[in-house]
Amino acid sequence: MNLNVELHLVAGLGALGLGAGTLLAEPRRARNRLFAVLCGTLALWSLGVAVYRSGAAPGVPWHVLYLLGSCLTAPVGMHLCLDLMGLTRTMRGMLAAAYALAGALYVSACTPAYYVQPAWNYAAMAVLGVIFAATLSITVRHARSRGQGPERSAYRLLMFAAALAVVAGLSDFLPRGGRPIPRFGPAAVLVLLLVICALVVRHRFLDVHRFVARSLGLAAGAAAAALLLLGVARLTEDAFLPLFAATLVVLLIAGPIGRILLSGMRGFLGGPDPLAQALMGTSRSLPAARGPSEVWGSIGEALRVLEGEARVTLYLLEPDERAFHAVYHSGGTIEAPLVPDGAALPRFLLDEGAPVTRTVIEERSRAGTRARRTLAAEALAQFRDAGSELAVPIVRGACLVGWIEIGGGLAERYLKAEVAAAFLAVGNQAIASLERIQAQEEAKRREALAVVGEMAAGLAHEVRNPLGAIQGAAQVLLAETDPRRAREMLEVIEEETARLGRVVGEFLDYARPSTRRREAVDLADLARRALRSADAAGQGLKSSVRVAERTPHAAGDPDLLQRAVGNILRNAREAAGPRGSVRVEVAPEGSDRVTIRIEDDGPGIPAEALPRLFQPFFTTKPGGTGLGLALVHRLVEAHGGEVRVEARPAEGAAFTLVLPAMAGTEDAARGARRAG
Ligand code: ADP
Ligand code: MG
Repeated sequence: MNLNVELHLVAGLGALGLGAGTLLAEPRRARNRLFAVLCGTLALWSLGVAVYRSGAAPGVPWHVLYLLGSCLTAPVGMHLCLDLMGLTRTMRGMLAAAYALAGALYVSACTPAYYVQPAWNYAAMAVLGVIFAATLSITVRHARSRGQGPERSAYRLLMFAAALAVVAGLSDFLPRGGRPIPRFGPAAVLVLLLVICALVVRHRFLDVHRFVARSLGLAAGAAAAALLLLGVARLTEDAFLPLFAATLVVLLIAGPIGRILLSGMRGFLGGPDPLAQALMGTSRSLPAARGPSEVWGSIGEALRVLEGEARVTLYLLEPDERAFHAVYHSGGTIEAPLVPDGAALPRFLLDEGAPVTRTVIEERSRAGTRARRTLAAEALAQFRDAGSELAVPIVRGACLVGWIEIGGGLAERYLKAEVAAAFLAVGNQAIASLERIQAQEEAKRREALAVVGEMAAGLAHEVRNPLGAIQGAAQVLLAETDPRRAREMLEVIEEETARLGRVVGEFLDYARPSTRRREAVDLADLARRALRSADAAGQGLKSSVRVAERTPHAAGDPDLLQRAVGNILRNAREAAGPRGSVRVEVAPEGSDRVTIRIEDDGPGIPAEALPRLFQPFFTTKPGGTGLGLALVHRLVEAHGGEVRVEARPAEGAAFTLVLPAMAGTEDAARGARRAG
């Protein structure tokens, strides 16, 4: 055997393998079939030459066989390239001419003209060269029209491999003058086939650097394995067992070695994409977002990398599921803020179920069933109108819930699988977060509605009782002639009217949105004033106010806190009675809180009343409204504080309000310290 035969054998068998593999992967795809035909013609060419040169059957005119392969390779190659670029239809005439020329060349090879050498060979070089050159120039022009990025580098790689194949292939026709110069044509064409194969079977994104890295890794692995086997064979003089063991070892370590080589090359091939990294970071932080604005804020932050370069729009299915609405948008103007559910683009995206680039939609509009081609073409028109480059659908079950559309001059360097995957993660997280936020808001709204309903029912009840009493008294009054009885009735009316006024007043207090001031409030002073005004109203009882060392002022709204403390004091007074006593203590708690504890010596609170104490309208008093403690609770909570209760049945109740302290007021409070 000689090198020529081996090269042809490798190329022929490699082409057969590639063609069969691609055909098996997706036999119904027209492009795969075309690629398989190209592999077939190359295999015919290479294997025919191999058999011919091995001298197996000297009498057979082998050139009739292998020239069929080499003549067809040129026009079929052109056909495939045109198909890859979507130009088959527009360049129909040129393609037909290429087939005709190559056919004529082959026919001439079957006539005695073939034996006029080297003239026939030069003619063949000219004919096939013209076809190759035309293909190459079309590819160059097409690649130029593409932006920078994976797509363009893919075409560059294709052109490089094609030029190599053309030069090497045509050089095979050069007369060797009897010297054993090997013919590299088939091997070079095999390289071209490998590159085309990557383009043909590529899915959505052609990350060329990954393809190159894989090929290099593969080649390095194969070389290492071959060296190892060769070494073992030399050392053991072809003994079977060591060779067998070495093969096993090679097989076992091939995978890990390939992976190590690949990861080592990652840095060399450019690190992780900054946009993808920023987006992945955002998708991890989104579950903590508390509102839509936080969701959009962190997405906007991640997209800062693209600032001024691209526009990103997130479309979301409306609650009524009839249209998609652009809910987030960065930069520029949106072409279509509202996209109907039945529009081509969403239907196409649901059909695809994975990120698509404009190129992918273009390809879909040229292949597949008629209905799908039409759908893709309509989607492509929408895509073009919006100036979009990439769309990432977000699918829940069998339903498209939204998509991210990126366009407005997005550089093609962002059109890679890594970035699309990151957008997908962000889109999914954003929608999940929005749904969670919406559910939480809905729950809150329901709760609020329930509270309002309860309050209204309570209020109606509270109003109806005194109204009933007033009406009764008025009816008696109408028929009453005895002035003493009439006066009694009028007193009832007066009392009940006062109670009505209290209910309404306290309810308004409770329901009125609180004004939120934040000032230093001296709680002891507040309690003293409340006790003094009760004294003045003739409702006084024994009381004391004590302030601990270094007690700060509370931070809050003085009017609201006055109301809270006043309500607790009124309850204490009512519980303790005129002969009872009330003790007030103001003290710091921790470094940033202040407490006011109000203790009475009344009957205390029965255990069964404790859980309902702060509910609106809960009262045990004949003339009570049950709104006092509810209001206290609300006011203190609005200040970020809390209310503590000591029930102490038979001892007297104690209520403690814990409030935030105003920093730096510890010493100011000391001056005002005084026992009452
Ligand atoms: P009202 O004073 O109108 O009854 P509140 O909300 O102020 O309404 O009080 C609710 C209930 O809590 C009272 O009816 C009473 O039973 C109980 N309560 C409040 N403060 C005290 C206290 N200091 N001692 C005993 N019971 C109290
Ligand atoms: Mg009260």
